[in-house]
Amino acid sequence: MNLTPDDTLIAWMLDIRREIHQYPELAFEEKRTAGLICHKLDELGISYRKEVGGTGVVASLHADSQDTPCIALRADMDALPIEEKTGLPFASKIPGLMHACGHDGHVSMLLGAAALLKRIPNLPGKVVFLFQPAEENGGGAEKMIEAGALDGVNGIFSGHIDRHYNVGEISAQRGLICAFTDEFHITIRGKGGHAAKPHETIDCIVVASLLVMSIQTLVSREVNPSFPTVVTVGQITGGSAANVIADQAVLRGTIRTTHLDSREKIILGLQRMVRAMEDLYNAKATIELIPGYPPIINNPAAATIARTAARQTVGKEGLKKQPYPSLGGEDFSFYLHKVPGCMVRFGAKKDGLANVAAHSPRFDFNEDVLPIGAEFLARAAILALKDIKTLS
Ligand SMILES: [Zn+2]
Ligand SMILES: [Zn+2]
Repeated sequence: MNLTPDDTLIAWMLDIRREIHQYPELAFEEKRTAGLICHKLDELGISYRKEVGGTGVVASLHADSQDTPCIALRADMDALPIEEKTGLPFASKIPGLMHACGHDGHVSMLLGAAALLKRIPNLPGKVVFLFQPAEENGGGAEKMIEAGALDGVNGIFSGHIDRHYNVGEISAQRGLICAFTDEFHITIRGKGGHAAKPHETIDCIVVASLLVMSIQTLVSREVNPSFPTVVTVGQITGGSAANVIADQAVLRGTIRTTHLDSREKIILGLQRMVRAMEDLYNAKATIELIPGYPPIINNPAAATIARTAARQTVGKEGLKKQPYPSLGGEDFSFYLHKVPGCMVRFGAKKDGLANVAAHSPRFDFNEDVLPIGAEFLARAAILALKDIKTLS
């Protein structure tokens, strides 16, 4: 069974990636991207449903009876509110928006996988292709699930482009690979006044600063150091002039944890510190917690299938393990709450860009990863369909 993309298919995938890259769209606004996906599926002769969970597209191959084993493959479609500075000939044409996470590549890979699987005359079951909106923001996966994207699905696979690995490397493993992500907003209220008369005020800038420093001890002193944890205050707002004491300050931040105990300790610690501001500094402080994405925990049987698919695609030497969990969040976790599955990382390191992080204006990846991702996804689907019992 030949599942290695030929030159024509690789050129087709490159075109798709570059076209999507030029027209990035934010969460739930991926109309042009979805339109392009539908057009390409038409070219392949693959049927689909559009406007699933907003702007999502669900395509399927060899739909059969209800009892047919079914595997889903998933790509995300959304871009980020970042002004691109790559200087690429196919750079974003939309001011202030950019594909800086590789989702343009994910769409191209999934269409490549669809093209490869379409050529297989006797697929051992059904494959559905989930083109999902809003991974970065908004939880598009949940919306897709609500719209029935997982109906009849026995297992799911996906992959993310990763510049930490070389092209020709795939990291696939069981267990936790991505963190819990929670957001917090803290509002501090004091008493404003003249900058030269602090004794008549309760200075929210000072209280906010002390709170930020206190928060640093949560990770260093309160949680088990064996489980990676991060608390970041990413935004402080407060005050209006150099000679005015601020009557309000707002801190917004994110909590990343890899263990339920650490998550609980951080949340309780934050609430305790916020409450303490009242006794310590006479300020009123409140905290709002916004639960984010749960962690990705790869199912052991699905991970075994993914590792076999990776070996078949990039050889034994290309199969890697992620040395430690990423503290990034990923809404693929919502699918894994419903069906067993596995998310992998596709190596895509690009020369000269070793220090350019995802979500940065100069982000790019090595496009040689595209056929590798397509082949891996196609192989994972076939292996899983043949071995569907291990997933149930
Ligand atoms: Zn991202
Ligand atoms: Zn991403």
